Amino acid sequence: MSKKALIIGVSSQDGSYLADLLLEKGYTVVGTIRRTTTYSRENIAHLAGKIGIEAADLTDGESIAQAIKKHHPDEVYNIAAMSVPADSWSHPLYTGEVTGLGIVRVMEAVRHHAPHARVYQATSREIFGDIHAESANENTPILGNNPYGIAKAYAHMMVKSYRESYGMFACAGILFNHESPRRSLHFVTRKITAAVACIVNKVSAPPLDELGRPLVVDGKLKLGNLDAWRDWGYAKEYVEAMYLMLQNSAPKDYVIGTNTAYTIRDACRIAFEHVGLDWQRYVLSDQQLMRPTEITALKGDYSQARKDMGWAPRVSFAELIKIMVDADLKRFR
Ligand code: NDP
Repeated sequence: MSKKALIIGVSSQDGSYLADLLLEKGYTVVGTIRRTTTYSRENIAHLAGKIGIEAADLTDGESIAQAIKKHHPDEVYNIAAMSVPADSWSHPLYTGEVTGLGIVRVMEAVRHHAPHARVYQATSREIFGDIHAESANENTPILGNNPYGIAKAYAHMMVKSYRESYGMFACAGILFNHESPRRSLHFVTRKITAAVACIVNKVSAPPLDELGRPLVVDGKLKLGNLDAWRDWGYAKEYVEAMYLMLQNSAPKDYVIGTNTAYTIRDACRIAFEHVGLDWQRYVLSDQQLMRPTEITALKGDYSQARKDMGWAPRVSFAELIKIMVDADLKRFR
């Protein structure tokens, strides 16, 4: 009989790639989405009829418990979160409720209704905060410095606590930034690649940014700190690591990254050069879009994941940005 996976937050970038991967592996896949009155979910449109859907919210423990009771999954992937670090300063309580406490509701539901199930939690590199080191591994101290990173740190430690207290198979992937054509427009890489496409295709009504302004105004894209460094990988490859973690013989947390780092300036240069444009003519830095605190340039040392599971990134940063530009050129015609 095929294994059954429950993906909490299936409409996300990662949830949708994970569903693709698990279907390829022969799983029965059920995904949760938040109940809303509109059901336009671009990331999972291609999965219609291939996966089951349940409405569940991480703030509503009963809805999570119902999904787990009904489906008795073998594997539960908690992908959902208030996932935008920059928004966490304006929504610190909601971030704590969803990104911090959400996984506790999942762990309680699994403990009571499907104790055999293996659980994956989406931890973030943001738990390390402003640590001054070249790279981070599984032993790096947790020094989160924004509401999102601190909520993720709490969630991360609760997963460890359930593992140790109840012997549950629960583990967390400490993932560095990962992007794709399915990345939400809240994030800088997608803003850049969508803006390139809107400029090249002369789109008259570009999508709106988080301040409700068109992403491109008078041919210019406004971003925050262009000198921020990130370790960026390809989401499609990162979901493979999530799956591999739940196939291990024992639960263990892993850092997943590329062990490289680039600036936002680099992302702009690669994206605009890909269509033959000079980024400096199109990109401005806007104080309103700066984070109150920045995280340091830190690379994700994935050597433990490579050693134990054979996982390693394959797509380079430049290739990733080009994949995203090409997808947005098609999307924004
Ligand atoms: P996305 O931003 O694409 O998606 C977040 C998902 O969470 C959406 O499906 C959203 O639903 C759902 N969600 C938000 N609030 C709730 C709630 N209260 N109840 C249920 N679902 C909710 O995420 P990514 O795919 O980029 O990331 C996946 C996970 O990995 C997240 O937990 C993120 O924090 C974490 N992570 C991501 C990294 C990255 O670089 N992408 C790096 C490290 C960690 P809706 O569509 O309705 O808004």
